[in-house]
Amino acid sequence: MEYERLFSKVSEDELAKLCAELVRFDTTNPPGNERAAAEWAARYLEDLGFEAEFVPHGESRATLVAHLKGSGDVPPLAFNGHLDVVPAGAQEWKHPPFGGEISEGKVWGRGSSDMKGGIAAMLVAAKAVATSGLSLKGDLIFLATSGEELDMMGAKSLTSRKDLAKAQAIIIAEPTDNEVVLTERGVFWPEFTTYGKTAHGSTPELGHNAIKDMMALLLELEKTEIPYEPHPVAGRFSMSINTINGGVKTNVVPDKCVATVDMRTVPGQDHEALLSQLDGIVKRLEAKIHNFKASIRITNDLPPADTSPDEPVVKRFLEVAQSVAPGVKVGKAPFATEAAVFVPSMGVPTIIFGPGDPRLAHQPDEYVEISKMTTSARVFAAVASALLA
Ligand SMILES: [Zn+2]
Repeated sequence: MEYERLFSKVSEDELAKLCAELVRFDTTNPPGNERAAAEWAARYLEDLGFEAEFVPHGESRATLVAHLKGSGDVPPLAFNGHLDVVPAGAQEWKHPPFGGEISEGKVWGRGSSDMKGGIAAMLVAAKAVATSGLSLKGDLIFLATSGEELDMMGAKSLTSRKDLAKAQAIIIAEPTDNEVVLTERGVFWPEFTTYGKTAHGSTPELGHNAIKDMMALLLELEKTEIPYEPHPVAGRFSMSINTINGGVKTNVVPDKCVATVDMRTVPGQDHEALLSQLDGIVKRLEAKIHNFKASIRITNDLPPADTSPDEPVVKRFLEVAQSVAPGVKVGKAPFATEAAVFVPSMGVPTIIFGPGDPRLAHQPDEYVEISKMTTSARVFAAVASALLA
């Protein structure tokens, strides 16, 4: 098979070792502290001939951008992964979260699935590409970002880069159980606040009850039809009222109530239009309820991201992936990735594919299967060779 030479460089032992080493860097975000892990990855890549640079985010945080130079006859290809992880949480772990234990064919620890296993697979794929004597017609770019789990600051710091804007594709090794994911729903979190006037609870007519106004607002929100087209992969728009806070004491009329709502949008939905619909609800209630006063603040705003399955680079990726690992299919992921930053700002086709299990992400006793990392590394190496050599 044409990729045998590349595959001979993909070693299970090395994959497990690299993933375990990465897990041992505690990159819990906040605060992140990703710089040490980024420098560790840079050293590995520099030994292979990559040129590394860092985008600093303060003292202890950085995003790595490393280039393996090609002749420039074809546009570059980018591998991308985030270095930060979510907190280990209060639950007991059988395998310590930052121990990087290797057993039962798995690497255990926080971030093994999301997504240090994916980064390890990309590092080993980069090694296969760099050491197999291929002559590259385009650059292979390796991105290891900071801050994905909170505000995507690493990805955002890359959007003005010309080398990425002209890339054939950005491949993101988030946990998809080695399925190809092209679409993700957007994230839109409105926080509603209603304002009233306090009074003694025994004389409510002297005050204005902010909780009652919030009840009216939330009922109106539930009744309002949000227009969208269901998407064949991303599915439907969803909305869930998830927190509510108001009042101080049983005998005091509340002057403030705050509620937050988690909305997930599908490709085709415009967040500006959604916000003006929410503004419309407030205006309707202002006209209906005497002294009604409310404000809306958006606390998280990531547009839906959608790469077409008809993009030639996507077709090529699938073709190569299926020849390397028969059975690879197009799937969907429930979470948002850095594609939400890259796709709208740069329009670069973005393919999400990685060895982790999305159900284990953010869970105690997270692990990644070494055999799955091997499959991903082979796919990444073969795709890089097909697109760049
Ligand atoms: Zn992730």
